[in-house]
Amino acid sequence: MKVAIRDDDTSYFTTPEALERVYGDVWDRVPVCLAVVPFAIGYEQRGIPRAHWHSGESFALDRNPALVAFLCDLIASGRVTIALHGYTHQDYPDGYEFQAAPDLPDRVRNGRAYLEQLLGCRVSLFVPPHNALSKCGLAAVASAGLNILGSFLSFRPSMRPWEWRTGPNWWTIQQYRRATGRTRRDPLVYPHVLRYADHAEFGCHSLIPGTTLDALTGPFEEAGRFGGNFCLATHYWEVDAALKHVLDAFLDFASRQPHVRFVRAEELFA
Ligand SMILES: [Zn+2]
Repeated sequence: MKVAIRDDDTSYFTTPEALERVYGDVWDRVPVCLAVVPFAIGYEQRGIPRAHWHSGESFALDRNPALVAFLCDLIASGRVTIALHGYTHQDYPDGYEFQAAPDLPDRVRNGRAYLEQLLGCRVSLFVPPHNALSKCGLAAVASAGLNILGSFLSFRPSMRPWEWRTGPNWWTIQQYRRATGRTRRDPLVYPHVLRYADHAEFGCHSLIPGTTLDALTGPFEEAGRFGGNFCLATHYWEVDAALKHVLDAFLDFASRQPHVRFVRAEELFA
């Protein structure tokens, strides 16, 4: 069973200390996939200074050279990998970035090229800001060939660009619902990669304030029973002492299970 960690929202606003505090004793045992915003525009979020919540100013990652140097070291030593997390991550009046922004294909192409050049790494994963993707957003990411790590992936054919795999994948999900006693409305994180013509998708389990260890070990054991894999997703800026305790306890729990292998998030798609 492959187990990975994803952390969202690293951007110009992030300090090396903030990442070190959460992952300093984690990334030597488990590589962390950092979902990075290349040209962050502020929104109401505790990890962003209040002065920039509504400033509308775009901050390129390279304006924070201390963070860039820190990330390059972490990448070189295999402690982190980099995913693309939107382009600006800004919120629009009528939706989140990858639901409402214009020019989504350009944002994917330019954002990815910028991160690869600045950080000297390959980027093969996309994490949607706020886990929200419109049909156009999904098409933009898929046509760039990036795989998607989501948390609330929609499997409804009506919510997706159509291609021949959409039907069989939808049917696979229905079978999984039946096998696990879920109704159409029960939340679901499918523990296998779903492959489409030009990309693949995998769902993550969220670690947010209030998440208990049991809320993670239950789905973890279910994924194991079905021969699946597991990815935990969190935000460094909301990991307080209590959440850090749950994170550490979960990793200890996972490492004690037979057949578990901690992997880079990219390897979930291998
Ligand atoms: Zn985010």
